[in-house]
Amino acid sequence: MDLQPLILLHLEMGSAMFETNAHIKEQVFLKQILENSPDGIFTIDFELHIRYVNSAFCRLVNYTEQELTGSFITEHLGDMDILNACMKLIEETGECNDQETIFKRRDGSMVHVSKNVRTIKDDAENVTGMLITVRDMSKLHQLNKALEIAKQQLKQHADELEKSLTEREQALYLAKELAEVTLASIGDGVITTDVLGRVTFLNPIATNLTGWTLDEAQDKPLSEIFNIINEVSRHKIKNPVSSVLRDGKTVTLANHTVLISRQGTEYNIEDSAAPIFKADGTLMGCVLVFHDVTEKHRLLNATRWQATHDTLTNLPNRVLLSDRFNHATARSQRQQNLLAVCIIDLDEFKPVNDRYGHDIGDVLLIEVAKRLTAIVRGDDTVARLGGDEFVLLLSDVNDVDELELIMDRVLVSLSMPYFIHNKRITLSASIGATLYPLDQSDTDTLLRHADQAMYQAKQRGRNQYNLFDIVLDRQVTSSHQTLKQIKKALESNAFVLYYQPKVNMRTGVIVGMEALLRWQHPTQGLILPLDFLPQVEQTNLIIDLGVWVMDQTMQQISVWLKAGKSWVVSINIAALHFHSGDFLQHLKDALARYPDVPAHLLEIEILESVALNDINQINQLIRDCQALGVSFSLDDFGTGYSSLSYLKQLPAETIKIDQAFVRDILDDRDDLTVVEAVINIGKVFNRKIIAEGVETTGHGVLLLRLGCDLAQGFGIARPMPAIQVLNWANAYVADPAWTKCVDADRN
Ligand code: C2E
Ligand code: MG
Ligand code: MG
Repeated sequence: MDLQPLILLHLEMGSAMFETNAHIKEQVFLKQILENSPDGIFTIDFELHIRYVNSAFCRLVNYTEQELTGSFITEHLGDMDILNACMKLIEETGECNDQETIFKRRDGSMVHVSKNVRTIKDDAENVTGMLITVRDMSKLHQLNKALEIAKQQLKQHADELEKSLTEREQALYLAKELAEVTLASIGDGVITTDVLGRVTFLNPIATNLTGWTLDEAQDKPLSEIFNIINEVSRHKIKNPVSSVLRDGKTVTLANHTVLISRQGTEYNIEDSAAPIFKADGTLMGCVLVFHDVTEKHRLLNATRWQATHDTLTNLPNRVLLSDRFNHATARSQRQQNLLAVCIIDLDEFKPVNDRYGHDIGDVLLIEVAKRLTAIVRGDDTVARLGGDEFVLLLSDVNDVDELELIMDRVLVSLSMPYFIHNKRITLSASIGATLYPLDQSDTDTLLRHADQAMYQAKQRGRNQYNLFDIVLDRQVTSSHQTLKQIKKALESNAFVLYYQPKVNMRTGVIVGMEALLRWQHPTQGLILPLDFLPQVEQTNLIIDLGVWVMDQTMQQISVWLKAGKSWVVSINIAALHFHSGDFLQHLKDALARYPDVPAHLLEIEILESVALNDINQINQLIRDCQALGVSFSLDDFGTGYSSLSYLKQLPAETIKIDQAFVRDILDDRDDLTVVEAVINIGKVFNRKIIAEGVETTGHGVLLLRLGCDLAQGFGIARPMPAIQVLNWANAYVADPAWTKCVDADRN
């Protein structure tokens, strides 16, 4: 309760009232009230001495009632403010409320109080003193102070917050600015979409490449503005954004992606699409970043093209040819068609170059390339190997006839005149070809085979084609292997000589033997000479074999001599050996190795054809050999091309009628006529005549009648190992029909 008005009321009632009992009671009552007031109360008189203090005031300033009562107002309290206030009141007789002031306590500390000063008047309205109520404000003051501090702190905090907010805003602004400038200036196209794949942003590069501005594209489905296809197949490519939005994972586009702009321009692009997540991890859209790689692709393609093409003619080069080759052979296998591999080489290109210069030479090559390309089909390949050499790979060739037609067309086309820089140039070409898979070789070998065939075409006179001879090649290959085997057989003594007797049918006398070569093959058994000799006939191996046969025969003659048999044994000498220049020496060596063997027991069989080229030289050689004592026989007579003048110059003592004629003399009149003629020639030229291939008694009888006494053949004996010969000879009895025939003729 605010007591102040009440107290004032009583004080204003005047001192007269204190006289009565009632007054006394009231005074006590009032004092009690004053004493119990929580506010400090004191009065001062007109001279500013304290007249009354209550307990609360004493407690407030920590002085006793006695100390304070009667003291001058500032004596203890030291309050100049209250003094001034009181002075003012006295002057103006007004009031002064709620003014703050500071009182000094006993201990010197200050206490903040609010004061209320009122004048006390007597009945005549004269101011007699003042009543001052004070309230301890120190707590409030402290609170205010704390509040003030709090306020300041708050303000400071708010200031800081404001500052930091501004900084953050600024940072955000800067980041936004940076992002926008970056997106505007980077070389990549950037498109963002919302979670439904609708466009939310497009940077200028994306606008350039897609042909859509941000305004136009906004909110449109990405697929509408980002139209991509595969460069090779031209098929539409699924938009990457849909899978990014579905899986929430980054996707990179496959190579060979082409973006088609709104205006239809095509760009090779590389791109990736990534999801955009909010801070809480939820997907909010997708960002597509892509860039134009058209130029890079162009460069790459140009580089690739240069690596695989001939820069002069623009035709595939060796590298690409090998790639095409692999495809073509695989296709040929799959479709079971023939693949023709042709090598074309221009005839006399160098003289053209030398005469007209390289520039014209180059133009000529370009023209040749054009003509070749015009002839072949789309699937076929024309390549330039370098220089004036070109290759054709022709797929789907049905047969050799078709290939020959194509090669004819190529030859005709290439031989048409060329008009270059007002010059008329003509040239021809040679073509070699092979057919896969008839020629079952790898690509390198196919090219080599075509090249070999081309080389032969050149040798045969140019301006023609030549097909690689697969059969011949196989023979050559196998003969190469045979050659190795024969060499090995010779070293390991796998050869053996069989002997076939020669008899005089008329007398029944064994006149000699022919040594015939056999190969005792470890797995194939006994191999006859015609099965392996043709493959070595043109090699030096035939010389080694000849030397061996000569030596073996001499040894055998020596053996038979010792057994009392002085048979003339003939050996077969191949043309190459006879021509070799070493033959005479070989013969001398052999004779020298067997000094007990008279040279006349050795006979040499040569084919009449050995003398075809250099008859004089052969004539001399025969004479040189004969000078050593050996004799000669012309084998297989009648099968060659020799003329009578040849025979005249070949001083062989004996002529062997080829068994091919003898075999059919009984049935074939022509053969009989030939045999008759040969026998007569022999007589004319004074040569001995021997018939081979005497298989029956009838053959012998007829030959005897024709005047041919000497014979060799299965009808007498088959060729046999040396070891059987003596037994056979001892048992040999001449055919009685022949000896009778002799008698008949004589008679
Ligand atoms: P050639 O010199 O004319 O030898 C005669 C060939 O006729 C032998 O065949 C012989 O077995 C065969 N012959 C003999 N009588 C008859 C017959 O009545 N009927 C039939 N059907 N064939 C008969 P072979 O031994 O197979 O020799 C074949 C050819 O091989 C020889 O023909 C000869 O040119 C060559 N030759 C054989 N041995 C040698 C040799 O050591 N060196 C060389 N360079 N060539 C040899
Ligand atoms: Mg012979
Ligand atoms: Mg013969």
